[in-house]
Amino acid sequence: RCQLRQPATERRAETHPLTWRLHDDNRLIGLDEYLDKDGYVAVREVLGKQSPDEVIEQVKEANVRGRGGAGFSAGMKWSLTMKGEGIPRGYLVCNADEMEPGTFKDRLLLEQQPHLLIEGMILGGYANNSRYGYIFLRGEYVEAARALSRALEEARAAGWLGNDIAGSGFDFDIALHTGAGRYICGEETALISSLEGSRANPRAKPPFPGQSGAWGKPTVVNNVETLCNVPAILRHGVEWYQGLSGGRSDDGGTKLYGVSGRVNTPGLWELPIGTTGQELIDLAGGIRDGKALKTWLPGGGSTGFLLPEHLELALDFDTVGQYGSRMGTGLLTVVTEEQSVVSLLRNLEQFFSRESCGWCTPCRDGLPWVVKILQSIERGEGEQGDIELLEDLAVKLGPGKTFCAHAPGAAMPLQSGLKHFRDEFERGISHRPRAAHEDPIPVGE
Ligand code: NAD
Repeated sequence: RCQLRQPATERRAETHPLTWRLHDDNRLIGLDEYLDKDGYVAVREVLGKQSPDEVIEQVKEANVRGRGGAGFSAGMKWSLTMKGEGIPRGYLVCNADEMEPGTFKDRLLLEQQPHLLIEGMILGGYANNSRYGYIFLRGEYVEAARALSRALEEARAAGWLGNDIAGSGFDFDIALHTGAGRYICGEETALISSLEGSRANPRAKPPFPGQSGAWGKPTVVNNVETLCNVPAILRHGVEWYQGLSGGRSDDGGTKLYGVSGRVNTPGLWELPIGTTGQELIDLAGGIRDGKALKTWLPGGGSTGFLLPEHLELALDFDTVGQYGSRMGTGLLTVVTEEQSVVSLLRNLEQFFSRESCGWCTPCRDGLPWVVKILQSIERGEGEQGDIELLEDLAVKLGPGKTFCAHAPGAAMPLQSGLKHFRDEFERGISHRPRAAHEDPIPVGE
């Protein structure tokens, strides 16, 4: 189990908004300790003293970009959400359905710092004219559910949730909803369907949830880490928050980065946004057993493979995008020279195939097809034309062909794997020409 680590470098300044509250021993921080460390100060300073629009403006200026992986500006999302006279109050939903392969940042935040999320949600609810918030939590996160339930009770008993919070006249409460462990529930519209009690099928966007979300009301869906940034922004100001990146990126603040795979000490660190892959691998104690790095995924299974030559890139939402990937969740998976990219991809695509909701044909039928081809290449029984077929499928599963981002996410490592490691795929082709009567790989088995 990966523990949260503090980097032993000068870079961890005391000013980082999240790190100084997190511990290597993964201890839960209760209400008293949270209050001792300026907890709920932002709520006291903001509610009833600043207008919701002023709050939104600061979050927008701080340029905190969605930490679930897509990097959409949180302030922009809030400003686009329908609110005002005559518009029904909507909901604030925290997406805690963390299930991206190799990603465990929200889990550690929730297990240690549930009050930080609650404070972020109160402020988000205030800015977005919501009376209720929901935390949609991944079902397997049992410890996080325990921590959150306890923190919600503590906050309610202390008057941080409920009516007239801190004498501001603002009423807000939060319900914890645990999912049933499906990756697709992390897609915001599928999450909303599931929250409403329906099958977790994604819905077409637009309308975006900010216009019509849960039960048809304006709904803001934000990731755990995104919301955890909000108290610090409102407490310390936009300039301070932007300064945390130390000029490494145009994005604001810090980021929870992590490393897993073949490194000596996998872990999670809060660092200035724009930290490089090399710095992260160094913090993880370097590569295991003196092996050489072959490739790395910068932020989960739905990102593209990057190469050793990309280790000096600033890991932020725009820079990585220029190299055939995206930052995603910012938790690296390190792959070494002796590992097979074909096997790794087969494993990932099996996961995506299993987790498809089955709504769109390319996703439902295309992903099992990809898995079958990868399995035969992995066994050395691939047939001529299989690589071209995979290339074609990667396009047909790509952006714009399906309702949601599930299949395009699965296509990203496939596309970049074929581009950078074609020789490995070629080694799995048996060179036996396909007989005329032989059908291509059967679909959907
Ligand atoms: P997206 O780019 O479609 O949307 C991102 C967010 O911006 C959404 O909330 C969306 O409503 C909002 N948005 C986009 N355009 C908008 C507009 N014009 N007006 C108002 N709001 C707008 O991406 P997505 O499908 O939500 O997410 C894909 C990302 O999720 C991938 O980057 C992937 O890495 C990540 N992901 C993360 C996990 C996890 O466990 N953290 C799991 C699966 C996928």
